[in-house]
Amino acid sequence: MTTFEHAMLGINGALAAGLHRRYEWRVAALAGLAAITPDWDGLTILGGVQLFDHAHRAWGHSFLSCVILACVVAGLDFRFDLVGYGERLLCWVLRTPSKATLTRPDRNHKRLIVWILVAIVATMSHLAADLVYSGTSELSDWHLQLLWPFSSQGFVFPMVHWGDAGVTIIFVISMFAMVRRRGSIQPIALITLLLVVMYIVIRGMSLA
Ligand SMILES: [Zn+2]
Repeated sequence: MTTFEHAMLGINGALAAGLHRRYEWRVAALAGLAAITPDWDGLTILGGVQLFDHAHRAWGHSFLSCVILACVVAGLDFRFDLVGYGERLLCWVLRTPSKATLTRPDRNHKRLIVWILVAIVATMSHLAADLVYSGTSELSDWHLQLLWPFSSQGFVFPMVHWGDAGVTIIFVISMFAMVRRRGSIQPIALITLLLVVMYIVIRGMSLA
């Protein structure tokens, strides 16, 4: 999956759970942010192709590193309001008024637990998506080292080629639907996730 699709998967997960009713846009933004973070190991390309080959889809794509990463992202956002800064930056670029300062939530233990759980589920959604989105018509499948650093065994269940636009289209249509029907965000997110799963299964059957 591309970064956009990973983010949208996380966001739709939080909205489908109805968490936006209590935590508004911040919980969706956190889920979107956490859902893209496992790809940090792709930045190892800056250290050369050899390091990238060794680290990509291993260091950031294991259960252990995802749980640690999720706790770090959730903790940093809880303490420093990362998504609030993101919203202010976006509003500054778009020249629209920001709501981040006015809607800054309380820091209580319940929200911290919710934040950590949401971030963990979002990073796990990244792993699930990368397991089924793999390779292209020219390139072979990419294995995830889910058990790193304890094992370097690779896992993959290829069903859709990387770069396939089907799910992107589903997410874009869903985004427009949510903007038009703000009172039905949760059912739209649930239908979106259902359509995404159905699309992946159907594509997987056609690849088999
Ligand atoms: Zn990834």
